[in-house]
Amino acid sequence: MANAIIHLDMDAFYASVEQHDQPELRGRPVIVGGSRERGVVAACSYEARPFGVRSALPMSRALRLCPEAVVLPVRMARYQEVSRQVFAIFGRYTDRIEPLSVDEAFLDVTGCERLFGTPQEIAQRIRREVREELGLAISAGVAPNKFLAKLASESAKPDGLLEIAPERVDEFLLPLPVERIWGVGNKAAQQLHLQGCRTVADLRRLSVAQLTRLFGVWGERLYHLARGEDERAVEVDTPAKSYGAEETFAVDLTHKEDLHRELLAQAEKVAARLRRHGQSGRVLTLKVRYADFETLTRRLTLPEPTAHGKTLYRAALDLLQRTEAGERPVRLLGLSVAGLEDPAARQPTLFPDPDEQRQTALDTALDRLNRRFGQGQVRRGDLLNEE
Ligand SMILES: [Mg+2]
Repeated sequence: MANAIIHLDMDAFYASVEQHDQPELRGRPVIVGGSRERGVVAACSYEARPFGVRSALPMSRALRLCPEAVVLPVRMARYQEVSRQVFAIFGRYTDRIEPLSVDEAFLDVTGCERLFGTPQEIAQRIRREVREELGLAISAGVAPNKFLAKLASESAKPDGLLEIAPERVDEFLLPLPVERIWGVGNKAAQQLHLQGCRTVADLRRLSVAQLTRLFGVWGERLYHLARGEDERAVEVDTPAKSYGAEETFAVDLTHKEDLHRELLAQAEKVAARLRRHGQSGRVLTLKVRYADFETLTRRLTLPEPTAHGKTLYRAALDLLQRTEAGERPVRLLGLSVAGLEDPAARQPTLFPDPDEQRQTALDTALDRLNRRFGQGQVRRGDLLNEE
């Protein structure tokens, strides 16, 4: 029996929550993000999109494109509260849920038919319940695998549902531009264009060998995606007590810059996972193993819990100072965050810190781009340089 996967994604989530909470904003272009002068667009309402506004755009540019837009700060605690309500609705139908962000998830509803109806009926019921209970729109894609389900929900937006039945895969997939394929960013798209591949149908003409020459191991994966084949299972990801990243290096690190670069990558990775689970943490632990296998940990407690990569990175640098990393070659570096808190459970701040706002907007933009182009493809520097 074919698998039944549903991809669900709230439409313009942050902006829609704002328009829901402040009805006078409905029908108007709304941008959620950092301050007007500095910062990036975290989300925008559909009314802002015809002007060319999209997430990750520097706010100054967004406002030149759409001067009449209403700019609002990111209210993460509120979005997380709504997120929990949305996920509670998903949980009525299956516990096989893979969260991708606060407003997006894969559901595996294979075998749920007798209880709740066909996958399409389940998706429709979820959409109706989110609309009736929360007053918000969510789009859904139904397909035999994750890759196709996500493509389907993207095509169904806004406020739609699209099912790709196994026998209709080619009809849907072949005309799509190669950019729509998961993991195909600007660079990969350019290379494919040079090969004469603009659509998935064009891409089908390349062999595994040709694609591997172009893209290495990822080329083989691309070969299968072009055929609508995706074996990845829905990964039920239960919230942990701590989140960490760790790396053993092929060659021991001796340069401070290399150590810093690695720490930044780990801080971003851990922060993204915290955000995916709607959590933040305040106890940061750095683990260092020297070339001679001596291992030590250094720990600090942050004044405020955080899920910002940059905040974690700065604190991690302080911890690194308290080691001999660099003077002694480093074999392994690891970063973990514990002391987790649910930000929605905390008192809202009356006067939000503008730098905190800016960080949140940047993180959100980063999460979105990395979901689109694959984890680690887009880095904070790429966004900051644009300003
Ligand atoms: Mg969304």
